[in-house]
Amino acid sequence: MVSTRAGSSKDGTITAFFDIGTNAIRMLLARINRNHTYTILSKQRRIFIHPWLIEYHDTATRAAYKKIHTGGPEECGCEHCHNFALARDRIYPPEAENLFAMVGIDFKKETEVVHLRMIKPGLHQYTGSFHFVGTVENARDIRCDSTSYMAVNSNFSWQFKNSQEPVHGAFHNQPLVHVEFIAKVPWLAASSEPEQGATDIGHSCDVSDYRITL
Ligand SMILES: [Zn+2]
Repeated sequence: MVSTRAGSSKDGTITAFFDIGTNAIRMLLARINRNHTYTILSKQRRIFIHPWLIEYHDTATRAAYKKIHTGGPEECGCEHCHNFALARDRIYPPEAENLFAMVGIDFKKETEVVHLRMIKPGLHQYTGSFHFVGTVENARDIRCDSTSYMAVNSNFSWQFKNSQEPVHGAFHNQPLVHVEFIAKVPWLAASSEPEQGATDIGHSCDVSDYRITL
């Protein structure tokens, strides 16, 4: 933790605290009051997830997720979503779990998931998404389409973009980052495995052309 005295007034001293980690910088602006208490004026948190530079507000995101009762898969309830929910604990790599915890995402509450295809019997490809309060600061410099995902490992890839569409009302029109992922998911549901993607059989989700091969 590094601190910088940013200024002082009759009310006290404004001090910025920087917590500089390997990938994340957190800045806390506080006023040290004359009676030795302090008042937090603003918090800014920033993380670099190659190649995205993201500002995030974990407190606002946590508050929003508390208001969301169930994730997209449970809310939909179709067989594809049911299977995803059964397999959820095996899907997210530690890097993703760490990021979700840091930015305030409850990883059991995906905005939505969509079954894409069977890779081989027992293993399926899905896409899905989360949202959190924040902004991708360098979004203009980064190509972001259905082919531009970064692999976290051989089972899981993701991309980050500024959200354009309205999502759950719990987010109250705050600026949102849209995390979209593609994952290999085992088939654990008791029902027979779908060979076709859900998108081919008229699922309502809007996923068009994923050319990524995991
Ligand atoms: Zn579904």
